[in-house]
Amino acid sequence: MKKHNFSAGPCILPQEVFKEASQAILDYNNSGLSIIEISHRSKDFVDVMEEARSLALELLGLEGKGYKALFLQGGASTQFLMVAYNLLQSNAGYMNTGSWSDKAVKEAKLFGEVIEIASSKDKNFNYIPKGFEIPENLDYIHCTSNNTIFGTQIKDFPVSNAPLICDMSSDIFSRQLDFSQFSLIYAGAQKNMGPAGTTLVVVKEDILGKIERQIPSMLDYQVHISKASMFNTPPVFAVYVSMLTLRWLKKLGGIAAIEELNEKKAKLIYSEIDLNPLFNGFAAKEDRSNMNATFTLVNEDLKETFDAMWKEAGINGVNGHRSVGGYRASMYNAMTMESVAALVDVMGDLERKA
Ligand code: PMP
Repeated sequence: MKKHNFSAGPCILPQEVFKEASQAILDYNNSGLSIIEISHRSKDFVDVMEEARSLALELLGLEGKGYKALFLQGGASTQFLMVAYNLLQSNAGYMNTGSWSDKAVKEAKLFGEVIEIASSKDKNFNYIPKGFEIPENLDYIHCTSNNTIFGTQIKDFPVSNAPLICDMSSDIFSRQLDFSQFSLIYAGAQKNMGPAGTTLVVVKEDILGKIERQIPSMLDYQVHISKASMFNTPPVFAVYVSMLTLRWLKKLGGIAAIEELNEKKAKLIYSEIDLNPLFNGFAAKEDRSNMNATFTLVNEDLKETFDAMWKEAGINGVNGHRSVGGYRASMYNAMTMESVAALVDVMGDLERKA
């Protein structure tokens, strides 16, 4: 039986994508060859890469606006340093809203001065700071749109003259935003886009080339742009499956359609968290993430019973991250209402039983 998979990442992807990808492993487009045994320079794969790059821009509404999409390697963690390597000349502002932002700050400090313009560390990152001052003349501002571990999500992004850089690893393609407010967006594929192994970078070309330092080729956005994201052998399978997932999203009606579903799923679980006296929500209500719902048991003595109940119901991956404890239900784009309802049913059953 297929599990209800709430894993935080790698995570659920559409079943039809799994099926098509499995077939392509055996025989890609009736070519007699697998997608993972053909040259990345073959027309078949170049077409995949080009479709993936253009679907990313199309879905974000960034076509014809001076942006380029790249499928790179090294995870979002490599972007922590690549952003600073390519853009940090003197000082940059960072919003510190969770462990991943913290790690981005650490890497950026190797390249210049980092000004922490806002932080929610004082309350174990359970909220998004608001109304903070932004200094003048920053090289850029960096933020994390969705804090995967803590279950908070930025609703209003900082406004300034500096280019805005955003780590969207855990909520890209999940909600409608004016994506042109960002000069650079990056996201590891392994949540809403595909298998681990590739990272989407969407960058506005005019912010590049302004830095004085020498940049190693593999870490230089301009090198990757000039080679159409094929400077070296790309992670062909991860890019192929990402392309299939982006096709799936487009067919569904794009970000507008998936946002509607994501809001319904989030509403269902948060109302259970709020109404059920056995659970507490972790994140501040106004900052709650539609992707990762974090919650704890009021009475830890019920843990064993609850854990046995959700396992019995075919649920996977709801254990919280060690820095928050409790539970985390990750409800990425491919998750159905039915799966969220299965978890909510178990939470209700626990109340009836306790
Ligand atoms: N940023 C965020 C918001 C994340 O959730 C993660 C973890 N998936 C990362 C960065 C690090 O990503 P990666 O493991 O791809 O380096």
